[in-house]
Amino acid sequence: MAKLDIIIAPDPRLKLKCKPVAKVDAKVARLMDDMLTTMYAAPGIGLAAPQVGVTQRIIVLDVAREDEKPAPIKMANPEIVWASDEDVTYNEGCLSLPEHYADVARPKAIRVRYLDHQNEIRELEAEGLLATCIQHEMDHLDGVLFVDHITALKRNIILRKLLKAKKTGALAVG
Ligand SMILES: [Zn+2]
Repeated sequence: MAKLDIIIAPDPRLKLKCKPVAKVDAKVARLMDDMLTTMYAAPGIGLAAPQVGVTQRIIVLDVAREDEKPAPIKMANPEIVWASDEDVTYNEGCLSLPEHYADVARPKAIRVRYLDHQNEIRELEAEGLLATCIQHEMDHLDGVLFVDHITALKRNIILRKLLKAKKTGALAVG
C-alpha cells in the first residue's frame, strides 16, 4: 500500500466538487487502502480523496483511540439521510491545514448511506466524534474546508499563515 501526498491549503484542488464513484472496483478499493495508509502515517482520523488529488466522492476514517483496536471505515458516495437537530461543537483540525484548529458546530448524530469497499450499500449511525469526522470529510467532497464554517476574518488569518509556511517550506507534511 502506498502513502500519498497530502495537498495543503490554500490550493484550488481542495475547492473542487467531487464526482460520484460509478462502482467500487479493485482500483477504488486500492485507493481507499492507500488513503488509509496515508491517514495513519500523518497521523489523522479522517481523509477525503480530494486531499490526495482525486476528485471522487471517497472518504476514509478511523476514530479509534490509541489503546483501542483500529476501526477503519471506507466510504464511497456518502450521503446523510438523517441528522439530529441537536448540534455538538468540536475543535476541528485538518491534515490539509496542519497546526490550525477552530471550533465548528455540526449535528451531533447522523445516519449516513454509502458504498463500502466491496460496492455494497450500507448505512451507519454515528454520533459524537465519528459523526463530526464523517461530516468534515464529506465537506471536502464539495470543496468545503472546516475554515469555511468560521468567520472570514479567522479563516483569512489561518490561510495567510499556511500560504506563508508553504512558501518558506516550513511545513513538512505529506
Ligand atoms: Zn480535513
